[in-house]
Order: sequence, then C-alpha cells, then structure tokens
Amino acid sequence: MKRERIHSAGPSITEAEVAAVTDAARNGWYSNFRDCLTAFEKEFCEYTGAKYAIATSSCTTALHLGAAALGLGEGDEVIVPDMTWIATVSALMYEGVKPVFVDIDPDSWTIDPDKIRAAITPRTKAIVPVDMYGHPSDYDAIRKICDEFGLILYADSAPAVGSLYKGKSTAMYADAACYSFQGAKMMATGEGGIFVTNNEELFKRAEFLVDDGRDESERTFWIKEIGFHYRMANLLAALGRAQLARIEELVEIKRNQYRMYHERLGSIPGIKMFLEKDGCRVNSAYPSMVLEGEFATDRDGLRKELRARKIDTRPTFPHVSAYPMFETVDSKVAKHIATNGINLPTPAYIDEEDADLICDNIKDILGV
Ligand SMILES: *Cc1c(COP(=O)(O)O)cnc(C)c1O
Repeated sequence: MKRERIHSAGPSITEAEVAAVTDAARNGWYSNFRDCLTAFEKEFCEYTGAKYAIATSSCTTALHLGAAALGLGEGDEVIVPDMTWIATVSALMYEGVKPVFVDIDPDSWTIDPDKIRAAITPRTKAIVPVDMYGHPSDYDAIRKICDEFGLILYADSAPAVGSLYKGKSTAMYADAACYSFQGAKMMATGEGGIFVTNNEELFKRAEFLVDDGRDESERTFWIKEIGFHYRMANLLAALGRAQLARIEELVEIKRNQYRMYHERLGSIPGIKMFLEKDGCRVNSAYPSMVLEGEFATDRDGLRKELRARKIDTRPTFPHVSAYPMFETVDSKVAKHIATNGINLPTPAYIDEEDADLICDNIKDILGV
C-alpha cells in the first residue's frame, strides 16, 4: 500500500495556494486588509454569474445571514428536503423558522418537486432546496411552484461549487444561494462560505447585517441594529482565490474519481451509483453508492470492515426529521438512502491504483 490509509476526503493544495496564503500573511494588513476578500467575492461572482457575493466564516453562517436578510422568522414555515446536513435547518431555526420536511428524489437525492405542493400551508414562506452532494436540485420545477405560491427560492448549494443546471451555476436559479468552502467540499478554505444573490436590495441588507449592523455613515462604530459577525477572514479569501482559479481542474479531478468508481462498481447488481440527471453537471464532490437488495442489510458493517483495512468512507446523512428535536416524517426515499448510502473516498489524490484497492476491498467484503 502506498499510504498509511485512504482518507474519506481532503482538498488538492498546490504551491499556488501556499504562495497565495503566504503573500496574504505577509502583505494583507494595513491598507490591504480586505484586498483578497474583495477580489474573492468579485471572482466568485464572475464564476457563478451572480451579481453580488458576501464571503463568510462558513456556509452555515452564510445560510443564517441570508435567512435573516430575507426576513424569514417566527411563524414562518420553510420547506426543506428530509435529507441534508443539519446546517440547512439550524440556520433557519436560529431565526425561529419552522422547517417542514419533504422527501427526496431517488436518483438526484434532492427535494422531490412532486411532493412539495402537499407540504405548502398559508404559513409557507420559502423553499430551501439542497444541491445534495453536488447534484443540482430540479430548479425549473421548484421555480414554477415558488412563482405559483409566491414563495422565496433560497438554495443551499453548499456542496455544489462547479455544479451546473442547464449550463449555469445553481445560484442563477434562486433568489439567493449559499456555498461552502469547508475542508471536505469541492474547493476548500478550511472553514468558509459565501452568500450570493442577484437582488441588490437583499444584498445591501445582508451586507449591513454581516458587519454587526453598523451604520458608519452616522458615526464610527455606530450600531443601528443587532447584526452578525460573519465575514470571512482576508487570509482565507487568499486561499479561496487560489482554489477558485483552479476550480475547473478540481471538478475534473472529482469527476474522474466518479468515473473510476463507476467503472469498477457500476455494473454490480445490488450497488446503485449516485447518478447525474439529464441537463445537469454534477461536480462529483461526493461519489456515492447505495446498497440495494441483498446488500441492503449491513452498510455500517461494510464501512467498519473497510476502516479496519485502512479505507475511510462516510455514511450518507441521516434523514433530518429522524433527529430527536423533530417529529419524524416517513420519508421513504431519504430513509433508504440514509440507511444504505456510502460516500466513497474523495481525497484529491485518489488514482487508478487506489480505486482498484478500494473497489476490490468492497467487492471482497460483499462477496462479489
Ligand atoms: C457542508 C454543508 C453545509 C454547511 O457548510 P459549512 O461551510 O460547513 O457551514 C450546509 N449544507 C449542506 C448541504 C452541506 O453539505
């Protein structure tokens, strides 16, 4: 074996990133204290096509910032998929919003638009679709429902930097969207996120809230309203810029990993690979598989045995409404994927030899 172990995830960091961060550590102070941040926000707008962006300390804080700026709060219901990372929901709940869970589509693992209408009530204010593991949500169908009922479309695109829906970034279909740069995501700043929108008024409101609710036009340090302290550090923006400059290369690395896994596992009955629907480019940030039929009995046993063989994987997220603070919804698809899904290893270094090792071990443990 070439390595101590195969990790479940990890970014591709080159000398370019090291040089960018070193430069910011040396020079990104005094009059330059925000240069990387401003440039990163501008470059992220250019990449996604969005008009405005605010880089934040995480995607969770970006999601919360947006929820506050959109005026979501006490008494509002927001429709979310019953499979996502908890941040989608906690960011809304920080503002007092009640999440309403809807099951997901069995192929894209994103919210099933056909099941949304039944969840709408007079209190519904927004739909927050999640581009799960980088698969774009069905934006055309969701937009249609939002327009029909006058709802806000607020996208949790945390894992979807580089994913495209009908050739455009997911941000272009939502009233606002958030992305993550956490260390295991498509591009990494360690911790970090970004809020994007094409709506100038919304941007201004978020821009006001992100810096503690200051109104410097009145006087220095004058706080007009209680806000947040959620801005990304300049040093991390330097890293973000260097990663963003390589984003198409990074997406290619992940899509190639998906190809390697699909070639080795895709035709085994009882293993269902996470797919890419027509009209979408999935960034393949998390190549995944679901155990079906006779294999759908012991996902955790398989993961444990792989770990013993020094191969780390991740289980798919539990379905959110199963957590103790919620009333559990019978989301059949989300439950099935939560119980039987595995994110295959996605560290940037995976090569054909690693893929052989990983897939041979999976096949050996499953007995195929
Ligand atoms: C990772 C993730 C988040 C949270 O991102 P952070 O940057 O870690 O706060 C939110 N939603 C989804 C769907 C995610 O995958």
